[in-house]
Amino acid sequence: MTIAAPERPAVKKQRKPTGLFIPELVFFEPDALKYPKGEQIMEWVKARNIPFRMTTSHNRITNLPGETEVEQYKIAKRTLVVGLRKTLAFDQSKPSADYAIPIATGCMGHCHYCYLQTTLGAKPYIRVYVNTGDILDAAKKYIDERAPEITTFEAACTSDPLGLEHITGSLAELITFMAAEPLGRLRFVTKYQHVDPLLKLNHNGHTRIRFSINADYVIKNFEPATSRFEERIEAAGKVARAGYPLGFIIAPIIWHEGWEEGYAELLSKLAETLPPDAGKGLTFEMIQHRFTKTAKAVIEKRYPKSKLEMDIEKRKKKWGRWGQNKYVYPDEQQTALREFITERIFEHFPEAGIDYFT
Ligand code: SF4
Repeated sequence: MTIAAPERPAVKKQRKPTGLFIPELVFFEPDALKYPKGEQIMEWVKARNIPFRMTTSHNRITNLPGETEVEQYKIAKRTLVVGLRKTLAFDQSKPSADYAIPIATGCMGHCHYCYLQTTLGAKPYIRVYVNTGDILDAAKKYIDERAPEITTFEAACTSDPLGLEHITGSLAELITFMAAEPLGRLRFVTKYQHVDPLLKLNHNGHTRIRFSINADYVIKNFEPATSRFEERIEAAGKVARAGYPLGFIIAPIIWHEGWEEGYAELLSKLAETLPPDAGKGLTFEMIQHRFTKTAKAVIEKRYPKSKLEMDIEKRKKKWGRWGQNKYVYPDEQQTALREFITERIFEHFPEAGIDYFT
């Protein structure tokens, strides 16, 4: 006779919270140390014994360690370059804002689909700019030029600045600046949960913080090295309670087996987890997955095991702003995705606004 062992109650394994990004190697441009932010980052680096080197320009960072290109890419994503922003002409940032405000370039995340892989070309390391005073002076000129219209700046066009905030403090500076600008607005999007340094700031309702969210399948398969869904939503609750305008970007929307269940579950989980009063003034942006031929080639090389579907035969060709064709979903699929997700949004958040689907 065998005696069955008493059943143990199932213990749910708690995953550790996603940690703050700590670079493995830091480069400083000498001029960066003439700025308080540069000095402060140097102290932060020294206090953690992070190896650092001086460089004359970020264009000179060519000898990163790593045997293969993929290894070098991974190391570059853990390498920080501290320098000055020289170009103070801002790019346009439609449809999300009027201009992109540049405080960082590059990101520690490893989202397979990320467009930075192609736009940053051979420089995937992370650059942060210490001359935020110059950047804000330039922003002020744009605001004055467009007065009495409101001017909106997007801080996350070339990076995920919240993931770097513990190193730079630049978002806090931007938020405080915009709070005092009657005609200036800031927005940024993130896949990280580290919002605590922003919660006590005087933002005056002029900064909208948006979280990038997605169906479970997309987060699990394509977004390594970012915060988990639950962490992002918990952070969204915190920023809503701190009185910030809040939004969500569902991007990239990916057609996959079970997508209807996946996106329905996403919106219902969101409604269950957010504080009840967070729905007022909430905005949603929806961006379907797209790629160029160049991006496809780069992604296949860097993430060779990725399940990301990039079959040109199954897509519709669209002329892209940067002179390259991009591949989006055929109209029928686009409509199905847009209608289905829009309905789920309004089912759970009847007072929310949808800014765009693209
Ligand atoms: S978090 Fe955003 S910027 Fe960073 S890799 Fe992912 S998609 Fe790119």
